[in-house]
Amino acid sequence: MHGTSILDEADRLMTVCNSCRYCEGLCAVFPAMEMRRAFSDGDLNYLANLCHACGACYVDCQFSPPHEFNVNVPKTLAIARAESYAAYAWPRALSGLFARNGLIISLVAAFSMAAFILGFAAFNDPGVLFGTHSGPGAFYKLMPHNAMAASFGMAFLYAILALVLSVRAFWRDIGEPIGGRVAAPSIFRAMRDAGELRYLHGGGVGCYNEDDRPTDRRKLYHHLTFYGFLLCFAATSVATLYHYVLGREAPYAWWDLPVVLGTLGGIGLVVGPMGLLLARMRRDPALRDETSTGMDVGFVVMLLLTGMSGLLLLVLRATPAMGPLLALHLGAVFALFITMPYGKFVHGIYRFAALVRYAQERRLES
Ligand code: SF4
Ligand code: SF4
Repeated sequence: MHGTSILDEADRLMTVCNSCRYCEGLCAVFPAMEMRRAFSDGDLNYLANLCHACGACYVDCQFSPPHEFNVNVPKTLAIARAESYAAYAWPRALSGLFARNGLIISLVAAFSMAAFILGFAAFNDPGVLFGTHSGPGAFYKLMPHNAMAASFGMAFLYAILALVLSVRAFWRDIGEPIGGRVAAPSIFRAMRDAGELRYLHGGGVGCYNEDDRPTDRRKLYHHLTFYGFLLCFAATSVATLYHYVLGREAPYAWWDLPVVLGTLGGIGLVVGPMGLLLARMRRDPALRDETSTGMDVGFVVMLLLTGMSGLLLLVLRATPAMGPLLALHLGAVFALFITMPYGKFVHGIYRFAALVRYAQERRLES
């Protein structure tokens, strides 16, 4: 007996698959499963987070429904994965709430923060809200830089703390000691596999979406979202250096590095999440985990709102729309930070930790 019924089901499926082994070349889940004869809760959560939900083992399986064995590995591991995010989250109570109402909570947080910034500006100087501002420091007419840096810095630090504590609990539960040594080649291997989304390829043919014709669309949208996020993070980091080291205040010219990085990242954060939402809607219901809709959709919508408001702000920053758009953009970023530890964002981090462990196991075995 395991801690939850979905882990009982995952154990049943892994036992069937361990006898069959037909899918062992498809991804990392099956070779990792073959290294075990019995599965603890931690093992099953590890396997669930190694799965990239490509769907290939469902389409290829001779025991999938309507067969009486009822083998559906992608969906079972998707539900186990979502439950693992809640099980390891810190503080745990918030994650259950978010899993059920993720989209609503994210939108309320974003619009509340935007309303707070607008109220703050209106209280200090109502004329500033719809005024036209240009030149260095124009953004800080709405909210002083120090107030902005303090509130967003605190939200970011909270997100980092919650993420570190939850990944630490995951790492310990999947059998790795805290503070234990991880070989550098295992980390590099995991970075390469994560950077390429190596296991989101259905064994080489692509990912199964709405039917049994595989494509690489989900992989492409994941890449656009992931690299878009990294570019936006790089843009913010460079802008911080500009501000504190070079004494140059935003907004910057369109050819300046923070704007170039932010524009490219913003395009990724619009096209990637839109594609992911579309792919989710079209996905074969047999593969879809409906239980984590709030968590999945909440995070993707926040990325989309961040990307769209950022690009609109770039285009309209010299017009009276700048104030409301900046407030909306900052609200979206703030909501993204504080919901990150409870939303789909964590899947990238847990998956990376699982890939490190997998690379480590393979090294020890060979
Ligand atoms: S998913 Fe089906 S075909 Fe693949 S290993 Fe498991 S039982 Fe065998
Ligand atoms: S859905 Fe894809 S990644 Fe997940 S276990 Fe099946 S083949 Fe592996």
